[in-house]
Amino acid sequence: MLLNAKETLLKEILYQYLNQLNMICHCEKCIEDVLAISLNQVKPQYITDINKISYSKSEMVDKQKNTAMLVILTEAASKVSAFPRCENRLPINKDNN
Ligand SMILES: [Zn+2]
Repeated sequence: MLLNAKETLLKEILYQYLNQLNMICHCEKCIEDVLAISLNQVKPQYITDINKISYSKSEMVDKQKNTAMLVILTEAASKVSAFPRCENRLPINKDNN
């Protein structure tokens, strides 16, 4: 089983700080968009064993790395909030539908 440990980590950090990211929408689509944008900016870290996630996690307890991840997530969240691709988009965009 091939897993990207960064995906798990980013997801955890995202949900941990969700209320601080000032997203205008918290739907599944927007959350996934934030994760996709963020994951495209970090180097993937593939593992073959789910049990190894906890090992790579201890590496990530490094506060500096966590902060870097949070910065990436914050930037992605503001991008998605500016142009949400879900049905909760801003009224100003509704004319385009
Ligand atoms: Zn949304």
